[in-house]
Amino acid sequence: MEANCKKEILVVCDCSTEMNDHMAQIISKARTLADESDHTVCALYIGEKKESTIKVISECGTDLVLFGTSCKNVGMWQYSDIITDIIKERKPQLILFQATNLGKDIAAVISTRFEAGLTADCIEILYDSKEGFLFVRAAICDSVVAQISCINCDINMGTVKEGVFEISKIDRKSDMQVLDFTVHDDQGKYGKNEICLEVQQVEQIENEININKYATVFCIGRGASSPECVEAIYLLAQKYNACVVGTRPIVEDGIIEKARQVGQSGKSISPQLYVGFGVSGASQHLVGIRNAKKIIAINRDLKAPIFEYADYSIVADVTEILDELNKMQISVV
Ligand SMILES: Cc1cc2nc3c(=O)[nH]c(=O)nc-3n(C[C@H](O)[C@H](O)[C@H](O)COP(=O)(O)OP(=O)(O)OC[C@H]3O[C@@H](n4cnc5c(N)ncnc54)[C@H](O)[C@@H]3O)c2cc1C
Repeated sequence: MEANCKKEILVVCDCSTEMNDHMAQIISKARTLADESDHTVCALYIGEKKESTIKVISECGTDLVLFGTSCKNVGMWQYSDIITDIIKERKPQLILFQATNLGKDIAAVISTRFEAGLTADCIEILYDSKEGFLFVRAAICDSVVAQISCINCDINMGTVKEGVFEISKIDRKSDMQVLDFTVHDDQGKYGKNEICLEVQQVEQIENEININKYATVFCIGRGASSPECVEAIYLLAQKYNACVVGTRPIVEDGIIEKARQVGQSGKSISPQLYVGFGVSGASQHLVGIRNAKKIIAINRDLKAPIFEYADYSIVADVTEILDELNKMQISVV
């Protein structure tokens, strides 16, 4: 593997899943940052070398992809060792990980090995020619949004939640370079620990709903938290193939599970359509929907802050609107 002569941003793809939107979002952001800061983008991907995967990685603006094609059953420690070797050779200045369980574990290991600055769960990354890379995240028990810069370290690292950045496709000026590498199964240094960690990872992924894969999202707010409204929203969601999410009070009241919470201390989403039922539009909620393409808000209070943010505002009682919507014959293609 040749060392790069230009400064590099390394995107580490989670090796426990196939190519997905989360990876594409981070690579797209890396491309933007690379253009602003005169870096190149290198992606590290372990998995089957499919044409479709290469196409997505290329379209998102990667200059070089390191493909671990024949690496099987790579666990947390082994992947950390692979990344360690790559960092030693390529000396990237910025490394971005998916904020998955595996991504966060590996980022923590790597930050200790290289004494690198690590910001977890970034909701934005900026570049400033004087200060370098700046990471934005919720801090102090989610009470503030903090801008963090890493000082006294050569490597800046961040983990990024799904849905925070948009996928952007570039017109390629030159071909993406693809380098294959091989790792043998017996190279992991920590034997059985790896297997335990992998099993945990698989279980968590299977049990948790992925609210980011839906084009349409219906959000339950406190104004729609009655059992009748919740039932009507789920019914409507079935018709539209929409995902039901909620604000924090709805999660705290046990109406929906934490994996469906949207906002500063929940998840960020970027659906084509977000419909807020009885959602006031607190800033901590809005930060999670800033990448939604269209926002419809239904609230009986004309002064609800969400209306300043919404593309379509419906000032009405949610029960009336839900009744009407559920009476309508809707066919989803
Ligand atoms: C550190 C911190 C982190 C936070 N993180 C998150 C987060 O991740 N996600 C999140 O969502 N919140 C978060 N919050 C909470 C946030 O500040 C708000 O309290 C929360 O978003 C409000 O939820 P809501 O809109 O459902 O409820 P409310 O603010 O109570 O709004 C209910 C709305 O429903 C309307 N309404 C009531 N009845 C009806 C009706 N019948 N028909 C139509 N409209 C009706 C009301 O006019 C009102 O606007 C956080 C807060 C803090 C301090």
